[in-house]
Amino acid sequence: TITSQNLVDLFLAIAAAIDQDKERLSELDGVIGDADHGVTMNIGFTAVKNALGGLDTTEADPTTVFNTSAKSFLNAVGASSGPLYATAFMRAGAAVKGESALDRNAMVEAFKAMAKGIQDRGKAERGDKTMVDAWLPASEAIEAAAERDESLAACFAAAATAAEEGAEATKTMQASKGRASWLGARSLGHMDPGAASTALIVRTMADVFA
Ligand code: ADP
Ligand code: MG
Ligand code: MG
Repeated sequence: TITSQNLVDLFLAIAAAIDQDKERLSELDGVIGDADHGVTMNIGFTAVKNALGGLDTTEADPTTVFNTSAKSFLNAVGASSGPLYATAFMRAGAAVKGESALDRNAMVEAFKAMAKGIQDRGKAERGDKTMVDAWLPASEAIEAAAERDESLAACFAAAATAAEEGAEATKTMQASKGRASWLGARSLGHMDPGAASTALIVRTMADVFA
């Protein structure tokens, strides 16, 4: 099972991955947005890392880990991704409320709650060329893998592959949400930065649970 400490380690791994890839994410945003996505995500996950460093994981339950992450991300990030990821983490926390450690099904529910939270908060539909185009396929893939009774590692591997394919597919989409929508057809041919960071985040989850 996944303990609170395992969840903290997961967030630290995501923070490290974002830090390592922040230039690429900002470059992608430079093409169809305002070139700050790597910076904003790095600010957010650095704040999460610092906030989680102050938690005593022998006391804090998984819900507290998620809620602490949500609050610190929201307070640190002014960009559109701030409230989206804050909502994702809050919903994950609510999905596992009362549990002291998370089995595969609880982790899968937390993941699905993140995807749904992002969609509820941003009101983007599939095909709008946003991070939803990576989160939704990942959520569907993890649900299908769990229904096939696959392992935690296999469930997250399936989610990561779906997120990467979803991010790739945003190249063929015209943006209708966020800054990129101002470009109209000129957004075609370029990967959405939020979908790219989603693919990175979900792949990191899969690596941690492998
Ligand atoms: P900003 O656009 O404020 O500079 P970021 O650069 O951090 O914020 O994030 C941009 C990403 O946010 C986009 O690539 C897109 O994936 C995502 N995004 C923007 N608006 C929405 C929305 N309404 N729903 C879901 N995702 C969105
Ligand atoms: Mg931006
Ligand atoms: Mg911005």
